[in-house]
Amino acid sequence: MPIVNRIADFHADMTAWRQDLHRHPEVALEEHRTSAVIQEKLKEFGVDEIITGLAGTGVVGVIHGAKPGRAIGLRADIDALPIHEESGVPHASTTAGVMHACGHDGHTAMLLGAARYLAETRNFDGTVYAIFQPAEELHGGGGMMVREGLFERCPMDLVFGMHNWPKAPAGEFLWRVGPTMAAVSRFTITITGRGAHGAQPHDGVDPIVVAGAIVAALQSIVGRNVPPLESAVVTIGEIRGGGAFNVIPSEVMMRGTTRWYLPEIGDLIESAMQRIVRATAEAYGATAELVYERTYPATINDGPATELSKRAAEAVAGERGVSELPQPTMGGEDFSFMLNAKQGSYIMLGSARTDDDPQLHHPRYDFNDEVLPVGASYWATLAEQLLPRSAA
Ligand SMILES: [Zn+2]
Ligand SMILES: [Zn+2]
Repeated sequence: MPIVNRIADFHADMTAWRQDLHRHPEVALEEHRTSAVIQEKLKEFGVDEIITGLAGTGVVGVIHGAKPGRAIGLRADIDALPIHEESGVPHASTTAGVMHACGHDGHTAMLLGAARYLAETRNFDGTVYAIFQPAEELHGGGGMMVREGLFERCPMDLVFGMHNWPKAPAGEFLWRVGPTMAAVSRFTITITGRGAHGAQPHDGVDPIVVAGAIVAALQSIVGRNVPPLESAVVTIGEIRGGGAFNVIPSEVMMRGTTRWYLPEIGDLIESAMQRIVRATAEAYGATAELVYERTYPATINDGPATELSKRAAEAVAGERGVSELPQPTMGGEDFSFMLNAKQGSYIMLGSARTDDDPQLHHPRYDFNDEVLPVGASYWATLAEQLLPRSAA
């Protein structure tokens, strides 16, 4: 595929950076080593300025072109996940219980590769901000950077994001206009009953039975309250309660997430959950509390910005290597905070090695290094296309 020649020369370096980051994963807001490595590389590449401190471990590399002009931001996320790696690869995580299972190591390496190329060639007018954002998986580092003044300190016209996509063939791009990734909440439900002997349930109030009723009833929100043509998800991902086969516990805790696109659907889900949790517990003589937190807004791609991103992708992967993501996904993405504040777009880069490659967040997932020069070339091409050099 027609990747930028000079970037192809960096393939081995980018692979080494990526695998080093993979060996040393750090979870949200603890990306201290990662942040130091990024800063050290940017310095080595000779970028004009390195901005640190946004969202704690965030880094922005500022690269000025040949002449002043417009400015764009290219954003990579840098954090890992609290998952125990089972990939068995030689560069597997050396930190127990933490791994780069979403490919943010690859995202970081691709943006570093592009920064190196742009700092070396300066074949553009204006300014490129290479944004290395912490805490995508948890805590919304994208929102933190925006609130802490990213766009004031780095005034830019457009901002772009990219995620590897192991569902699509390696090196192909998937774009989408409008709703692309869902809005996200996380919630905790605490059910309080009264503990008793397992053989004497009439002496207690069994919170496990209440939990079962709440789990079943919550599914009626999507089935019966959300209009059938709208998208929503209610998932309970964790239930904790009890410690012995013959004891009725006094408390059960459940945690989960909800997803939606339209703000009014988000409101509907939250109020229906409050009603169902409270009333179901009451019906069984227990009490329950729902703590519900909306974390990420929906990722909505701007039409004209997506057109620009598509054009750069086509220059790299050819027209046949670029297609429309057929449907929005219910996954979440905190690049949405940047898109809510600035015109821009988020593109997927296919990264599958085989049809049954482990997917994102799987303990056997490993970023596909083959696509490193493709992603870096996309960034470089996007910058050169959007910030063309004026005639001398
Ligand atoms: Zn992820
Ligand atoms: Zn991710």
